[in-house]
Amino acid sequence: MNENVSIAELGTWLEKYQTFALMSHMRPDGDAIGSQLGLGLSLEAMGKTVHYWNVDGLPESLAFLAGSEKITKPPEEAPEIDVAIALDTATRVRLGEENLLAAAKAKVWLNIDHHISNPLYGDVNYVDATSPATGQIVYEILQQLQMPLPAGSRDAIYVAVSTDTGSFQYDSTTAKTYRMAADLVDRGLKVGEINAKTYDSHPYRRIELLRALLNTLELSACGKVAHWQMLDQWREDLALQPDDSEGLIDMIRAIRGVQVAVFFEELPGGKIRVSMRSKDRSVNVCDIATRFGGGGHALAAGIRMAGPMSVAKQQVLAAIDEVL
Ligand code: AMP
Ligand code: MN
Ligand code: MN
Repeated sequence: MNENVSIAELGTWLEKYQTFALMSHMRPDGDAIGSQLGLGLSLEAMGKTVHYWNVDGLPESLAFLAGSEKITKPPEEAPEIDVAIALDTATRVRLGEENLLAAAKAKVWLNIDHHISNPLYGDVNYVDATSPATGQIVYEILQQLQMPLPAGSRDAIYVAVSTDTGSFQYDSTTAKTYRMAADLVDRGLKVGEINAKTYDSHPYRRIELLRALLNTLELSACGKVAHWQMLDQWREDLALQPDDSEGLIDMIRAIRGVQVAVFFEELPGGKIRVSMRSKDRSVNVCDIATRFGGGGHALAAGIRMAGPMSVAKQQVLAAIDEVL
């Protein structure tokens, strides 16, 4: 059974080697990309060589982050690298096949994450499920190891933590999180500017998607479960990008009386992506997701499962009903 190492031990691996590939989960969110840039730009400032890979590339909504153009899809030929680092990724599979192939020559795998369901799949693991975001772990690593914190890392870490905490709102947000944010502001982070870029600059098509989703909204289990669905065809109809749906689930999570919100999304090829949010620790959505091969956190979890939509919905809603 693998165990967590200390940040100091993690530091020996960062110190010792020269070439790094930093990777994050498919369909990356702010914490995935922010953690890659937060750690990577610091390693670069130490003179290291860093590759930044994601199987789905950079979402348009995060292109405002300095250095984000460095995020590419993994190369087909595996380059010579020393260290592969998975960030914010609950399972190896969530990195995607292309990442695993591209990192084939790594001498060691580091796994840095905050998902409770993470099975510690790295050679060296640092998984802290009490951390609200992998970005906060990256911040702690840079601080403890006295690594550089360039402006690009500073902003990326802030966005990572802000997006994974619902703008510092979820109960995973602690005094440590606010102290970190205060320190980043002390270091010159422009709060209004970065929040406007993160939250106030959505493309129009995202709101059209919201309108279409609202037309499918349903309440079940006596108003305790709110769910809606997105069909694959909408991608073409509304010219959607994969990240256009990011965070929309918070709209239905916010309904009074709702304990669980569920977003069913039909993926190209017919698989169903399920996003779940719980407002109440008595309903652990990570446990429910795990039953279907997914995972995540107690209050936010996801699944990729076989379709068709009607069957996936019926199975997942039944599992939630059972817990309620
Ligand atoms: P999402 O609903 O996609 O925002 O995901 C909620 C949380 O669950 C995030 O922390 C994800 O990394 C995690 N998650 C989502 N889908 C999966 C999956 N298929 N397997 C494991 N973890 C997942
Ligand atoms: Mn994530
Ligand atoms: Mn995260």
